[in-house]
Amino acid sequence: MVVELISVGTELLLGNIINTNAAYLAEQCASLGLSCYYQSVVGDNAGRLGEQLQTALSRADVVILSGGLGPTQDDLTKEVAAKVIGKQLYLDENTIDRIQRYFETRGIEATENNWKQAMIPEDARVIDNDNGTAPGVIMEENGKTVILLPGPPGELVPMFEKDIRPYLAGRTNEVIYSQTVKICGVGESRVEDAIQDMIAGQSNPSIAPYAKTGEVHLRVTARAENEKGARKLVKPVIKELKARFGNDIYTTEEDTTLEKAVADLLIANDLTVSVAESCTGGMLSARLINVPGISEVYKSGYVTYSNKAKRRLIGVKKSTLDKYGAVSENVAREMAKGTAVLSKADVAVSITGIAGPDGGSEEKPVGLVYVGCFVCGTVTVRRFQFQGNRTKVRESAVSAALTLMRNCILEYYSQVTFGKK
Ligand code: ATP
Ligand code: MG
Repeated sequence: MVVELISVGTELLLGNIINTNAAYLAEQCASLGLSCYYQSVVGDNAGRLGEQLQTALSRADVVILSGGLGPTQDDLTKEVAAKVIGKQLYLDENTIDRIQRYFETRGIEATENNWKQAMIPEDARVIDNDNGTAPGVIMEENGKTVILLPGPPGELVPMFEKDIRPYLAGRTNEVIYSQTVKICGVGESRVEDAIQDMIAGQSNPSIAPYAKTGEVHLRVTARAENEKGARKLVKPVIKELKARFGNDIYTTEEDTTLEKAVADLLIANDLTVSVAESCTGGMLSARLINVPGISEVYKSGYVTYSNKAKRRLIGVKKSTLDKYGAVSENVAREMAKGTAVLSKADVAVSITGIAGPDGGSEEKPVGLVYVGCFVCGTVTVRRFQFQGNRTKVRESAVSAALTLMRNCILEYYSQVTFGKK
C-alpha cells in the first residue's frame, strides 16, 4: 500500500514553522510497512491544494493531509478534499455537540466560525479530536483513501495514535518492527566498519546506522506477517550487535537517552553527582536534569567560566592555571576533584575546552576539550579534539562527558575496559 503526505499551510511554505508533522507521519507510515514515495507542502490556496491532491490520488492508495482544518477563512483543506472526491458537506450533529462541550468545559463562548469545523463530507468517517475542536476525517472512495488531520502536533499525534494508526494497520497485511541499538563513544566509521559484513548481506531485517553527536544508533528493522514474526527476525541481529559492541551499547530501549542511562547507573549504585562546566556553560547539568528522578543523586552544578570562578568555587590552584592554562589536563583534573570534595559528591565531572570560533592557538586549537571524571577517589581525564562550530563542539563535549561518566562508573564497579583503541 502506497501512502502520500500533503502538509497544508503557508507558514510551512515560508519556513516560519518546521514540518514536524511530515516527519512524524512518515516515520509512523514506515513503521507500519507502508511505502511513501512522495510528500509535499502546499500553501493555503484552494486551487493548488486541489491540484496536488489530485496528483497524489493518481499515484497513491492513501493520501494523508495535515493542517487547514481550523475555523478560519484560510482553513480550506476539508472543503477542497470534499470537492476533489465529489462529496457535499453537511453539518454533523455529533461534532456540533462535541465542539459545544469543548468550549463549555473551558468556560468560553464559541464564535460563529467554529461551526465550520462541524461540516463533514458525506459518507466520511469522523475522528473525534480529544485535544482541540477540528475533527479528523477519513474518506474512502473508488479504492482510494483521503485522511484529513488537524495541523497542531498536539492534536495530530494523539489522533494518529488512537485512531489512524489502528485504521491503517488494519488495512495492511504486513507489520514492521524495529529496535534500536544505541552506542556511545565510538565513531561512526568505526561502527560501520565493525558491521560491514552484516550491512552488506542485509535484506530482512535491515540495519540502518544513524550518527548522532557522540553516539551512533543502529536501527534493526524487520517485516513480517505479524509483530511476533518480525520480533523473531530482529532478535538474533540484536544479539550479534551486542556481541560486537559489548559495553559500548548503552541501551536497546527506544526511549532511553544517554543521560537517562547515566542517571540510571548513578541511581542504581546510589552515587551522588556534581558537575563543573566551563565552555559548556551548564549544558551537561541541563541534560542530566532532563531525566525525571535525578534529584535522588544530583547535588550541584557549577558554571566556572572564568579562572577566578574555577579557583574560588571549586578550588583549582592558581599555580595550575598559570602553569598549564585553563584548558588543560591538570585543570580538568583539579576541577573534577575540587567539585567532588567541595560538594561531597561520589562522582564529579568537569569540562574545560575551547569552543571557538576564537581563542584557539596552534598548541591548543579550537575544539580542544578536556573532560575529567572523579569516581570515588579516582580521577580520569580524557583529551578530545572536536570538529565543527561552537555549538557542535559544546554538544560533543557534553556527550563525551556523559560517556566518560558511564565508562568510569562501570569500570569502577567491574574493572571493564572501554574504548579499546
Ligand atoms: P487550527 O484549528 O489551529 O487552525 P488547523 O488544522 O487549521 O488548526 P493550521 O491552521 O494549518 O491547522 O495550523 C495550525 C498550527 O499548527 C500552525 O500554526 C502550527 O503551529 C501547527 N502546524 C500546522 N502544520 C504543521 C506541520 N506540518 N508541522 C508542525 N506543525 C504544524
Ligand atoms: Mg488553521
